[in-house]
Amino acid sequence: MIYLDSGATSFHKPPAVARAVAEALHTCANPGRGGYGAAVAAARRVFECREAAADLFDCQPEQVVLTTSCTHGLNIAIRSLVRPGGRVVVSGFEHNAVTRPLHALGADIQVAGRRLFDWEDTLTRFEDALRRGADAAVFTHVSNVFGYLLPVEEMAALCRRYGVRFVLDAAQSAGSIPVSLQALGAAFIAMPGHKGLLGPQGTGLLLCSESGKPLLQGGTGSDSVQQEMPDYLPDRLEPGTLNVPGYAGLAQGLRYLKKVGVERIGQRERRQRKRCVSGLKNLGMQVFSGPHQAGTVSFLPGMDCEEAAERLARRGIAVRAGLHCAPLAHSSAGTLETGTVRVSFGYDCNDRETEEFLRAASKLPPFTQ
Ligand code: PLP
Repeated sequence: MIYLDSGATSFHKPPAVARAVAEALHTCANPGRGGYGAAVAAARRVFECREAAADLFDCQPEQVVLTTSCTHGLNIAIRSLVRPGGRVVVSGFEHNAVTRPLHALGADIQVAGRRLFDWEDTLTRFEDALRRGADAAVFTHVSNVFGYLLPVEEMAALCRRYGVRFVLDAAQSAGSIPVSLQALGAAFIAMPGHKGLLGPQGTGLLLCSESGKPLLQGGTGSDSVQQEMPDYLPDRLEPGTLNVPGYAGLAQGLRYLKKVGVERIGQRERRQRKRCVSGLKNLGMQVFSGPHQAGTVSFLPGMDCEEAAERLARRGIAVRAGLHCAPLAHSSAGTLETGTVRVSFGYDCNDRETEEFLRAASKLPPFTQ
């Protein structure tokens, strides 16, 4: 199978990831719950993951909260910053992992900037919305549908200027674009462990500049007499038994990224995305491409997108079709009715696989109005 669905999850993880998961299953008990060897081994594995993440994302290990997914982290972050009915500015390219928690809070959602690949539009609209006042801003680093890389440094600077705390959704950037908690000054940055960070499913990270509001209450192995959650991180936001094998694997994914280099991986993905864009254009597909694009591209063939993805699957190509849990992004781009076929490159992408994908795509009918 040629796997071009890294936007969903990374598939071929570095071998050290699976080894670490198996090793943790065999050697680790519950972290922070005992002083015997297997409990200490578990605590060590968990701390190594925090440490590797802190090193990669420019923060302290205790600012790294271990979550089960990016969605989990976003829910904590959003609940920490947004009061019910509060006014929140988002980009026009958000995932349901952002918009549904906001909707559940009855937030007044201000969508700012809906033009694909247009930094000027994104920034002008974003500033206009902030100027009108907001409790918080939440925005994605890279659109999971179109690969649009938003001007997040400038958006962060605008948030600072207008005194608005913000959350960055780094689901599609962590592992292929450098992210620094300190430099951005975000209140929270949420990311999955299982996509670009190359860890197992069921892992995620929430980088925290503030202590946040617990989404769940429960045992932490600390301050046990007290009935409120501890007021310090990471315990405050991490009740219950942690997914130790998952974080042991994630630590290896993070180490791999450190060794190979996030910039280098991003360059590799963008190179294949460019080849893919020009190949698809030559085949007569409608391709959504532009400046400021990461390693993901969406296109429309001359047939139903889901059927096209099925045809590609029969030829051994894994891509994703439909709305990609991001109706807002599709509505911004005018593809809410059709969805798109999405090709998303991962850390191990290469020329041969892109060429094979294009050969398979050449059997699809070209786009017609
Ligand atoms: N945000 C974006 C932009 C995403 O692409 C995704 C997943 O595809 C998520 C959030 C949710 O990530 P997870 O599946 O780890 O909860």
